[in-house]
Amino acid sequence: MSFRSLKSFFPTADDLLRQDLPTLCAILVTHLKSYEGLNTVYQYAGLNCAYFRAMLENRNVGLGTLPKEPEYGARQPEVTKRMMEAWNWLERQGLLIRNDEQAADWFIISTDGEKLLKSGELTLQENSGVGVSPHKTASQLFRWEDLDRRFMLLAIEEAKKSVAEDDRPHPYVGVVIVKDGKILATGYRGESGDGDHGEYCALKKLNETDVQGATVYTTLEPCSTRKPPKRSCTKRLIDSKVMRVVYGIADKDESVYGHASLAEAGIEIGVFPNDLMQELLALNKAWSDSLRVKPIIPPNDTSPLANASYYKLGTSMHDNIHLFVRPPKNAGGFYTVEDAAKNVLAHGRTIDEIAVEWHRIDRQKVIVEKLVRQGSGSSNRLLNLV
Ligand SMILES: [Zn+2]
Repeated sequence: MSFRSLKSFFPTADDLLRQDLPTLCAILVTHLKSYEGLNTVYQYAGLNCAYFRAMLENRNVGLGTLPKEPEYGARQPEVTKRMMEAWNWLERQGLLIRNDEQAADWFIISTDGEKLLKSGELTLQENSGVGVSPHKTASQLFRWEDLDRRFMLLAIEEAKKSVAEDDRPHPYVGVVIVKDGKILATGYRGESGDGDHGEYCALKKLNETDVQGATVYTTLEPCSTRKPPKRSCTKRLIDSKVMRVVYGIADKDESVYGHASLAEAGIEIGVFPNDLMQELLALNKAWSDSLRVKPIIPPNDTSPLANASYYKLGTSMHDNIHLFVRPPKNAGGFYTVEDAAKNVLAHGRTIDEIAVEWHRIDRQKVIVEKLVRQGSGSSNRLLNLV
């Protein structure tokens, strides 16, 4: 493979800066590979990170004749910054690995990197004809998602091992923690004890410094609150300084805000693609269906604590609306607001709760529906309508 300058991929700085990181990384690894044999960035069977930066900045660091890299004029500093981000990304994903036989800054392309590069070269040859846009070639040559997807699939396999602690429906949660392309730990819900969350089960196998900068694949949005002294998984992930969290399905429970907290902590968030999400939704259907279900409150025949009647001006008295507040029928039951046909219009656990509902319904009738309140009465101060 002969040398391919960045300019041959991206004619302008705008073309280059427009690319997403995966595409840019695909180009960078191809570009770096093309240095082989040039004795500059590539020497001693390895690649030098500092030399690469020097090349981009057109600094003379005794490299001999260099291919002319600072090709983007005044935009070069932006390009340099972006290319170094791409280098770091390749490193984090384990596609470039440190060459321990050399002092700092020397890297080699990992086996995985070479493999991806190989499939990339084939695509490049197939598409080397005129008129192929660099962007199109890049995304064909390097399917970044494939790497992510491998770990997502593994997390789903882990999820299937989840153990429920009782008869109620619980989610299936699997977790894979990856750093520099290597799997550090896996876990699933209930693995280490009754009701233990998947993230917790995986994280407890590692110490916090190991996890720093890692990507955590989890099949469910991490939880955001746990009864003290337990820490929520979101808090654990933030405290461990993970770099990225990729989750499968959002938690349907309205009180969960793992996504929001992680994003606010500066953690990059990814989600599983739709086909895997659908697979997880099917796996978790029983649990999911048990959430956000409005309880059906049966009417009760207790003596009302309050009543009110409403009518519309000019209508027959037969059209009057009668409403009642009734106390719970038995322990653990609800206070209800019911109409004459025993439809439950509102319910509450306490007299204060039902009083709020009672006043809300009254305002609705009088102000919004423009009904006239004909009469009302209550034995309870809180339920008096004025
Ligand atoms: Zn959790």
